[in-house]
Amino acid sequence: MVDKNINPTEEAASADQKGTLSRRQFLTGFGLLGGGLALGGLVGGAFLLPDQVVAIQASDGYLLVDTKKCAGCTSCMMACSLTHHGETNMSLSRIQITQDPFGKFPDDISIAQCRQCPYPSCVEACPTGAMHVDKATGVRTVDADKCVGCERCVNACPFTPSRTLWNFEEKHSQKCDLCKDTPFWDEDGGPDGKRACEEVCSMGAIKFTKELPVQSEDGYEADLRTGTVWDTLGFDGAPKSGGHLG
Ligand code: SF4
Ligand code: SF4
Repeated sequence: MVDKNINPTEEAASADQKGTLSRRQFLTGFGLLGGGLALGGLVGGAFLLPDQVVAIQASDGYLLVDTKKCAGCTSCMMACSLTHHGETNMSLSRIQITQDPFGKFPDDISIAQCRQCPYPSCVEACPTGAMHVDKATGVRTVDADKCVGCERCVNACPFTPSRTLWNFEEKHSQKCDLCKDTPFWDEDGGPDGKRACEEVCSMGAIKFTKELPVQSEDGYEADLRTGTVWDTLGFDGAPKSGGHLG
């Protein structure tokens, strides 16, 4: 799944969202970013290119989630919809909580949050530049006015469910912008502000980080589960096979 985020081809990104670097420039910049661990897969692909690689501006932040801590209350979904659209409509939430009524803890809940992919397939797929990388924050986001509704971005997302969603009311695609643009919330959002979903989650199941998380098959390798309660329950913070850290 992670491999689908890797597309260091020159054709892929639109001109204003990519920088063409020499290999030396890329290596230098990459080292400064300190992203070697998480981008291990990318490095292998990128360095095979003969003379040039494409660098896409990284997001300034990422959402981490832990379904073991999630109570399934969907407050995050309501907050996301409310702050962006002024209504609590689950279908408009950019974070998606799904519950299996026949499932048992800890496999009964899943959280689908945008990973702000290092090589965003949604951005690459957009023919109009509507889906783009915000220059100020690096957040992958949609300019609704440029969206022609082809939904290529929705289909291009490598994750299931797609983290890019169709806004059926306004007829354009949308995705998590880390609350960069929240017309119905009187707070500064984005990587340097607050995220509504994180703010309302009373369980601490959603956290924000500025560090590019290490990727695994199951999601980000992150520890949101420190503390004696989780240790006592036998669910400490260590990522587990088939776990739900995201
Ligand atoms: S639906 Fe809109 S944002 Fe998505 S690829 Fe098409 S034009 Fe771009
Ligand atoms: S960070 Fe903001 S836009 Fe992203 S899922 Fe949370 S509430 Fe929605």
